[in-house]
Amino acid sequence: MTDNTESSIQSDSHNHSKNQLPPLPSSAQPLDCVYRLKGKVVGGFKRGSKQLGFPTANLDPAAFRSTLVNVPRGVYIGWAQIEGGPVYPTVLSLGLNPHFQTKEETVEAYILHEFEHDFYDQSMQLLIFAFIRPSYAFTSLQELIDWIQNDVEITKRVTQEPQWQCLRDDTLFSHAAISSTS
Ligand code: ADP
Ligand code: MG
Repeated sequence: MTDNTESSIQSDSHNHSKNQLPPLPSSAQPLDCVYRLKGKVVGGFKRGSKQLGFPTANLDPAAFRSTLVNVPRGVYIGWAQIEGGPVYPTVLSLGLNPHFQTKEETVEAYILHEFEHDFYDQSMQLLIFAFIRPSYAFTSLQELIDWIQNDVEITKRVTQEPQWQCLRDDTLFSHAAISSTS
């Protein structure tokens, strides 16, 4: 982890026009500090994420307005917990979504687990610890899918590493587990 992580992330963020994407990333950059968020799962624009095979649980924006002011927007790796349940790896999108030209900033979590039901209105805990890439406006849906699939592969691999596995035991998750059963 170097001091210039944030600046390199930011300088990369918006400089790519539609046809000049950098190569697909193959690794992630650990953050200087982890971010912990919790709130309710709210409805989003239902703009294809489920149809594309990547549903994203949107966190109530009130939960992160003050926490993430200085965090560069983009795609991150973290852990997610719903309603005090098991902790799963998750790909996170933070900020505006240039592909869909959203106006409101969102935190969205594609959780790497097959849930049997939707979980709108349930509590969601998110712990964010590594950066994958800035968000881009892609030229096609297929390009978007290819990039998300690559984000998923990186997330699966990185979350197996012992240094990140131990964050599953973070108090963010154990407190939520206790309060959901009491
Ligand atoms: P929205 O625009 O309302 O966020 P999505 O198409 O992104 O709709 O679907 C998100 C919803 O799908 C979540 O709020 C959640 O209830 C449900 N869901 C089911 N499986 C997952 C998953 N693996 N990761 C995230 N959300 C999931
Ligand atoms: Mg969503």
